[in-house]
Amino acid sequence: MTDPSPQAELIMAFANTLDVEDETDALADVPDLARWLAETGLTTSTPVVTAEDHQRCLRFRSGVRELLGTEDRQAHLLAEADSVLRELPLLVSATAGSALQPAPELPAVSRAFGALAAALAVLLITGENERIKRCPAEDCGWVFWDNSKNRSRRWCSMRVCGNRNKARSFASRNRRSPEADR
Ligand SMILES: [Zn+2]
Repeated sequence: MTDPSPQAELIMAFANTLDVEDETDALADVPDLARWLAETGLTTSTPVVTAEDHQRCLRFRSGVRELLGTEDRQAHLLAEADSVLRELPLLVSATAGSALQPAPELPAVSRAFGALAAALAVLLITGENERIKRCPAEDCGWVFWDNSKNRSRRWCSMRVCGNRNKARSFASRNRRSPEADR
């Protein structure tokens, strides 16, 4: 069993600010983003967030969610995330707590995005991102940690999405079953 690193926890929390099943978005608007950044400790206090910051953040999150999906990644979403990342320089440090840091001269909100970028970079370098998956169920899309031995988990939870999906294919195979008639 492998537990997620703090970087993995952060990126999963960021990706799951969008909850497809509940139709909620913890980053729905500018004040939401300001609150989330402060709550997660990415900024020391509630920052001043602009509409442009908010747009950048959503483009970045779409790309991260796309990257964590295991099938049919949409290149344009990844490219948009890259365009956000290009404006977030990172610094390698021998003295700071973690080796990869957002450039200190960045304004607070960009520094917070830079911290997310640094966390993502660590996951891609260590390969830990391969244990982070986005559930392929269209009405789910939850990002989860796959702690199976051979990283073979596909659905977010075998109890919920896994069984739900099995039930669905069973229902379509058995048209006359009570499940399908409901
Ligand atoms: Zn799911």
